[in-house]
Amino acid sequence: MRLILLGPPGAGKGTQAKMLDEKFRRPQVSTGNILRKSIQNGTEIGNRAKIFMDAGKLVPDDVVIGLIKERIVEEDCRAGFILDGFPRTIVQAERLTETLDEMDLSIDAVVDIEVEGEELVGRLTGRSTCIDCGAMFHEMSRPPLKASVCDSCEGELCQREDDKEDTIKKRLEVYEQETAPLKEYYRKQGNLKTVQGSGSVEDIFSRVCAVVS
Ligand code: AMP
Repeated sequence: MRLILLGPPGAGKGTQAKMLDEKFRRPQVSTGNILRKSIQNGTEIGNRAKIFMDAGKLVPDDVVIGLIKERIVEEDCRAGFILDGFPRTIVQAERLTETLDEMDLSIDAVVDIEVEGEELVGRLTGRSTCIDCGAMFHEMSRPPLKASVCDSCEGELCQREDDKEDTIKKRLEVYEQETAPLKEYYRKQGNLKTVQGSGSVEDIFSRVCAVVS
């Protein structure tokens, strides 16, 4: 199973990718999480990426393509993976197609999670993320059992620098300009599946599972 989760920031890609990872035992591969780990570890890539991420902009294609190429050849990705937040531009999508072609592999489904713009801002502003495992919580819809502590791994929860209101606006603009055109790209390839991203996390998960299994 090789999946791509598409959708605007706040659509719930990370949450759904984690649930798919647990159900199907295929790793969630999130470029956002990989980049945040690099920042935490003070690597050169992390330091370079942080400037773009804090401004709500996309990290340059060559950086994220390099990260993905290294990640998808790892042992745990052999039977498949769930891409969350990659690709985000047409160039990234084309390079992914080429890389998979060279490996004689292909994407089984691209799941586009649709949510209205106004709802996204509310979802992102109340959100906190686990520094260690990337699990997401929300002060209204999914509060952690213990304040600032991750329910899954007991890591520390933080509000992401880019989940502040001005940066959110920029991220949504960037999504419309750079990432939304991917829907047409994958529709033409015949593997785009659209699901409604409203309702409970479990309802959305049922819709996602229905289109991927
Ligand atoms: P995410 O956790 O997927 O919302 O990503 C957080 C931020 O990381 C984005 O706003 C971008 O700055 C950067 N990022 C993550 N994935 C990509 C990607 N595929 N291409 C470019 N930038 C990315």
